[in-house]
Amino acid sequence: MEHNSSNFIRNIIKEDLESGKRNHVITRFPPEPNGYLHIGHAKSIVINFDLADEFKGKTNLRFDDTNPLKEDSEYVHAIKEDVQWLGYDWDGLFFASDYFQEMYERAVLLINKGKAYVDDLSPDEIRAYRGTLTEPGKDSPYRERTIEENLELFERMRKGEFGNGEKVLRAKIDMSSPNINLRDPVIYRISHATHHNTGDNWCIYPMYAFAHPLEDAIEDVTHSICTTEFEDQRPLYNWIVEECEMTSTPQQIEFGRLNITNAVMSKRKLKQLVDEGLVDGWDDPRMPTISGLRRRGYTPEAIRAFVRETGVSKGSGTVDSQMLDFFVREDLKMKAPRTMGILRPLKVVITNYPEGQVEMLDAEVNPENPEMGTRQIPFSRELYIEQEDFMEDPPKKYFRLFPGNEVRLKHAYFIKCEDVIKDEDGNVVEIHCTYDPETKSGSGFTGRKVKGTLHWVEATQAVPAEFRLYEPLLLNEEPEELEESAETETEPEVEKTFLDHVNPNSLQALKGFVEPNMKEVASQEKFQFFRHGYFNVDPKDTTTDNLVFNLIVSLKSSFKL
Ligand code: ATP
Ligand code: MG
Ligand code: MG
Repeated sequence: MEHNSSNFIRNIIKEDLESGKRNHVITRFPPEPNGYLHIGHAKSIVINFDLADEFKGKTNLRFDDTNPLKEDSEYVHAIKEDVQWLGYDWDGLFFASDYFQEMYERAVLLINKGKAYVDDLSPDEIRAYRGTLTEPGKDSPYRERTIEENLELFERMRKGEFGNGEKVLRAKIDMSSPNINLRDPVIYRISHATHHNTGDNWCIYPMYAFAHPLEDAIEDVTHSICTTEFEDQRPLYNWIVEECEMTSTPQQIEFGRLNITNAVMSKRKLKQLVDEGLVDGWDDPRMPTISGLRRRGYTPEAIRAFVRETGVSKGSGTVDSQMLDFFVREDLKMKAPRTMGILRPLKVVITNYPEGQVEMLDAEVNPENPEMGTRQIPFSRELYIEQEDFMEDPPKKYFRLFPGNEVRLKHAYFIKCEDVIKDEDGNVVEIHCTYDPETKSGSGFTGRKVKGTLHWVEATQAVPAEFRLYEPLLLNEEPEELEESAETETEPEVEKTFLDHVNPNSLQALKGFVEPNMKEVASQEKFQFFRHGYFNVDPKDTTTDNLVFNLIVSLKSSFKL
């Protein structure tokens, strides 16, 4: 694996090992199973697994499942599949919810030390009492409850004697701290809800800010890598590890999130696209999810190379999605067989070619990789070409087919346009051409030159196929705003605004034809269609009599690395 791109975290780990501060490395990828993974998560996955790999350490996959209302085992399943597909094997597989008992005991320890108290204020009151950046917070009237009273109330919370939101447990830290995260954060809340893993065992759940450092410490994680919106929570993270008397002391390190042009990168928003039926599920090929990228045809190799190229730094820039396209072209160039497909068919009749005759022509599978050999394609009197490769009245420098002009058919012959057949409305329905047997591809013919080379398929054996072309799902180039931290009691209303940017033309489905040797293609097989681009066999909608090809990327790009 390559580890060349800039990465400040690697330097921290290196120093920790050299100075003897650490004698081993354990990282973790800690998704909340409340949605499918997106390419931003791929960045976190690659960073964590690559670093552990480089320093002979371990990486855990840990489901951060402390919020029963939003989590589901469907997501657990999908996340595992995506991590594996990206090419990574985790060392430990853990669920934060398996630590609920230990977390509860650590909370009791805090109460016993006078470092946590049960508060009866409502979530709104707690927020108001917490103050602002310029204004210190105010003590809750319940802040000075005795240890005994707190122990009893917390126990009664656990037993289910109170309703949702009636009471919370707060860490007792410093209501006048300049860091609002230290103004007595809520560490436990009441939620009478069934949990995907622990069922109805619990009706109190730890808050992310309390749970996460404990999860890391329990697993002996050495370097807990997260994104920069958690930077302000680092003092709280350290406070919890210390005051809960954890033997292991993980270090939180933050890096800048990955954002990509024309994409939302938040499970919450992606879920909204799914729930409102604007896409065909989480794995819609237009989605920036790992499963969407897979279905579209992006490869794990390309995604890893892309993510590594973006580097690891404190700043979160927005990366052009064309950079990912660059890497998938690089990856597929040598691997993908070349073939010809007609997206918008126009019938061509070769009037001087014998009726009923079919000849087989040799065609290389991949000119950039001769080891891939040759394929056979039929040629006969009736062919399809692209509608856009013919113009009755062309502008200058149009080198394709027009009346009187001669072009080359890839792997076959020169043909010359002799006649145009139209329907009653004047639409071109058929082109009549003649071919010159002397010009057969591979025959060494040099008698004359033509400027255009067209792709085509033989009409009688052509296999019908559907081609799906994509444009960005969202038309705004701006990245989304940063997500709020996970500590808030209630989720804010999802803003509708980003849905206003949904591109109504993001999917175009065309009915065309492919070469007869494509009849048996496998799900997820990738091809380069001559002059069009790279396509993937859609794994969901392809059947034996309906081939569906998803456009991964077109061939050309102005993007340069
Ligand atoms: P989302 O906002 O999409 O729900 P999240 O951060 O809430 O993302 P988690 O399931 O908590 O989702 O993420 C698991 C890990 O992936 C976290 O360590 C998180 O920091 C990281 N991660 C999420 N999004 C990105 C991103 N865009 N770039 C880099 N890392 C990310
Ligand atoms: Mg999260
Ligand atoms: Mg989130």
